[in-house]
Amino acid sequence: MATINVRRDVEDMFYRYKMPKLEAKIEGKGNGIKTVIPNMVNVARALTRPPSYTTKYFGIELGAQVSCDDKNNRYIVNGAHDASKLQDLLDGFIDKFVLCGSCKNPETRLVVSKRDIQRKCGACGKRTQVIPTHRLTTFIQKNPPLKDDNGGQHATADTPGSANGVSSNGSPEDSNQDPIDVQLSTITAGITLNDYSKEAEEKWIAKLDMSAEAIALRQKQLAGGLVESGEVGDLDENTVLGNYIVDEKPEDDEIYAKAKELGIHKKYRALRAVILALFSEAPVQQLIDGIKKHADLLLKFGPESKHQKAAIDSFVIIISEHMDTHLKKTGLIFKALYDEEIVEEETFHQWNKKPSKKHVDAELVLKIHSQAQPFFKWLEEADEESETDDDEDSGSE
Ligand SMILES: [Zn+2]
Repeated sequence: MATINVRRDVEDMFYRYKMPKLEAKIEGKGNGIKTVIPNMVNVARALTRPPSYTTKYFGIELGAQVSCDDKNNRYIVNGAHDASKLQDLLDGFIDKFVLCGSCKNPETRLVVSKRDIQRKCGACGKRTQVIPTHRLTTFIQKNPPLKDDNGGQHATADTPGSANGVSSNGSPEDSNQDPIDVQLSTITAGITLNDYSKEAEEKWIAKLDMSAEAIALRQKQLAGGLVESGEVGDLDENTVLGNYIVDEKPEDDEIYAKAKELGIHKKYRALRAVILALFSEAPVQQLIDGIKKHADLLLKFGPESKHQKAAIDSFVIIISEHMDTHLKKTGLIFKALYDEEIVEEETFHQWNKKPSKKHVDAELVLKIHSQAQPFFKWLEEADEESETDDDEDSGSE
């Protein structure tokens, strides 16, 4: 099986992301002539998208009817089209619907909502919006990737077919396998993209943490570097806590009890895991209200400046992932942290002087930093006022 780089503009033969070269077979003749893509499933799987997406994309680009038969793995575009033309079109699909808009890594997952479609990057953690004007977006919104298959689990044959009919069931032949699974298999097995094992999946899920550490760890792994064992242990507990919050939606006292049980109830990294798990997916107003609601819990992890910095960093990460909605509210988010005494003035000043660029792309940090300036101005003024109030002899006459 001939494989090519998922990004054909990358010439590196050691490029990690490969896909099978697209095959095309012309059948029939006259008005009934059609192009069968015999390896559509394998190609789509390497891109971790359902084969119906790529096939439909060809149809839209070529103005041709398509037919997707997921049961029999038959993907057909009407008319005669040669493989190299389809391969060229596929580049466009990959660029628009697969590659991270920020780092161009193909290890992304589609997050589909009524409003838009985002590519959530497994490498850099960013979300980037899919171009909303392409007609395939409507198709994807009507036929979102199956959630159940995101973990790459092999469903049994009696799994009911999806109502939308894109994927008949979660059989291993389907291409809804999470990019992350595929990615991990390459890391652990180092063989092929489609190599896939349960153990690899579990290992990955253990690290499938929204925290910056997890992203950093993944990047280290991607870079082929080794991670100190201590760090992994620490990470795993934070991940357990984060997953617990996401999966069980526990009350705050249960969250803290779980942190205690894990022995991380005073750790700033645990605080970060909690914040990311609680707030990452919250609409911005809910996030702002949530800071007040969960303040007691957040404060329990510790008052030190490293906890406070972790709180700022976590919210900066969250803002960076939702720039379109959250950036404008940066000041209000910071003010809520200040009002609830989760972050003290001094720590804010330090961040203002030197915002951490460790977890978020520097360019985004600068945008967030500049958006936060009215808050810092307010903070200074509030400070001056309180000084005058507290000390009448301050000589301000
Ligand atoms: Zn990325």
